[in-house]
This record gives sequence, structure tokens and C-alpha cells, in this order.
Amino acid sequence: MKSFVVNNEILMDLDKIANNAYHPLKGFLNKDDLLSVIEKYRLTNGECWPMPIILDFDKEDIKSFKMGSDIILKESSGKDIAELKIEDIYQVNKKKLAKDIFLTNDENHPGVRWWLGLKDFFVGGKIKLINKPIFFNAEDELSPQEVKHIIKNNGFKTIVGFHTRNPIHRAHEYLQRCALEITDCLVIHPVVGKKKKGDFTAGAIRASYNAMLESYYPKNRIIFSVLSTYSRYAGPREALFTAIIRRNYGCTHFIVGRDHTGVANYYGRYDSHKIFNQFSDLGITPLKFYEPVYCRHCNNIVTEKTCIHKNGFIKISGTKIRELISKSSNIKDIYLRKEVLESILNYGKNNKIFVD
Ligand SMILES: [Zn+2]
Repeated sequence: MKSFVVNNEILMDLDKIANNAYHPLKGFLNKDDLLSVIEKYRLTNGECWPMPIILDFDKEDIKSFKMGSDIILKESSGKDIAELKIEDIYQVNKKKLAKDIFLTNDENHPGVRWWLGLKDFFVGGKIKLINKPIFFNAEDELSPQEVKHIIKNNGFKTIVGFHTRNPIHRAHEYLQRCALEITDCLVIHPVVGKKKKGDFTAGAIRASYNAMLESYYPKNRIIFSVLSTYSRYAGPREALFTAIIRRNYGCTHFIVGRDHTGVANYYGRYDSHKIFNQFSDLGITPLKFYEPVYCRHCNNIVTEKTCIHKNGFIKISGTKIRELISKSSNIKDIYLRKEVLESILNYGKNNKIFVD
């Protein structure tokens, strides 16, 4: 059987298809499903699925491919990861579809760059896992089955998922506590796949939450697991995608923040909230939050929904935290809790805090 080495992003997608994190997908999309996903955010059978999950090949590779035959996908070490049954071999107009997927075809957009950089031929078909790929911090990653098991054992009825790419700062703490106030359990689920230069490393994110769980949070109501997948920066489309994944891990609710999964200024502040209104069959309830900021007058974290002031706000964001830590500034408690900062800096003594 022919075998091909696939990159880390494909391995992560393979893993999530195999463990049902990408339910209802059983494999990589064929052409009809891909076009339907891009246009309608649904598979051709009507089930909601918003994200193109595709397997790309060069022209040379596909010459030997036959419909209905199997190929092996392996990692660079040579280990076989999965078997794929070829159901479709096709090409698309990547440039046109970039606009439909990301609502822009500006090549400065990291998702557009990724999409346009894909090889020219796509292959669709179901996969069968042979060996689970091992990612760099596998010990921190729970499968959907494992998370559901913990939920069941604890008798949690309402479970809220939190998607992030950053260490915990005070605005995130506000969102998480609000959500935990009305649910039984919080699943903290940071994305740790491929990232942009300057992003926080998975270890730094883990260190921040270790401090929070040690000193502040009710451990028995919190599940922490990393999620090895990669950001597409597709704004509202990806907001749906991130919610569906958490549903597949057993969450009943999902925190959707301002410009959730967006990048730069490509999407409206609350476009990721609005898109949920179009889908009543997701099987997970979005908890839509305005942007939490620190208000000097209220002397508290607030949102535009909970405070009357028009000025005196301090923005708290992952970008801001990144800037403060990288410049070794004196960081106030209103951005990061002291223990969280210490834990990140301590981790940074022997490890990288930021992606090179
Ligand atoms: Zn205020």
C-alpha cells in the first residue's frame, strides 16, 4: 500500500476525526461536502459543520491514486498513523474560496495564507486510525471520551467550555467565574497546536492555570485539558467550529467572547455572537459575553453591559499581557494575578514563554 508523510496540522485533524472531537466527520471532506461546508456551514446531509477539513497533495502524488483504494498516512518519523480510503480526488478555485471562507482574500490574513499555501489537489475519504499520533504535550490532553467520563463520574449536568490561546488574565477570569456561577463545571480547553510567532507556548499557558487552580479556583469543578489543533483565524465560522468541538467533549454551554477566533480587524467585534443566531441545532448553548475591561470608576472588571461609565477603562487582552511580559514591565494585579505572573516567569526560567 502506498504511504505518505503528512504534516502536523493534518496529523492533528486525523487525531480529532478519529477520537470524535470532529463529530460528525468520519474523514477528510470530499468536494461536494467541502463546497457545502463553505457555502452553508453544513455537510451535504444537512448536519452543521463549518470548517474545511481537507487533505492536500501534489500533482505527482495523486498520479498513482485510484478511487476506492487505500493509502497510508504517516508521520515524519515513519510511523503509520491512519489508513484513508480514497473517495474523491479534486481541485478547487482556492482564491475564490478563500474569500468565502475567511470573508477576505487579503494575503496578510494568516488563515488566507495557510489556505492559499495548500497543495493543489485535495483527496476526500474516510480514515481508520492505526496509531494515535503523539503531540508535544500529550500528558495534558484528554480525549472527548475521557472528559465525558469525568463529567459523568462527578454528576455534572451543565458544563461550560472555554476556548483560549493565552494564559489566564483577569478578563478571562471574569468570564470563567460568570460562567461557572451558572453551570456545574468549567472545561478549560486551550488550543496548543501550531501558532503564530510571539504567541504564548502551551507550557506557559499551563503554568498560568496551575497557579489559578492552586490558589483560587475550585479544582473539583474544573477540568483542564489542552486541545491540539490549530487556529484558522476564521472569525465567526471558527467560533461555530470551536463550539461544536466542545459539544463533542460533553459541554452543554460555550463561552463566546468578543472577536472570538478573529485576528486583527478582519471581523466585526461581535460577528462571532451573531452567527450563532442562524444555527439552532448545534447541540450547545453559546454564552455570549461582551468584552470585560477594568473600570477605574467601578474599581472592578466590567463590561459595557454592566457599567455606566464612558471612560476610565483599561483593556485587558492576551496581546496586552504578551507585550507587558516580553518587556518585563511591572505588571499590575488588574492584568494578571501575582501568582499567575510568578508561575509564568518561573516556567520561563528553563523554557520558552513565547513561540519563536
Ligand atoms: Zn464603571
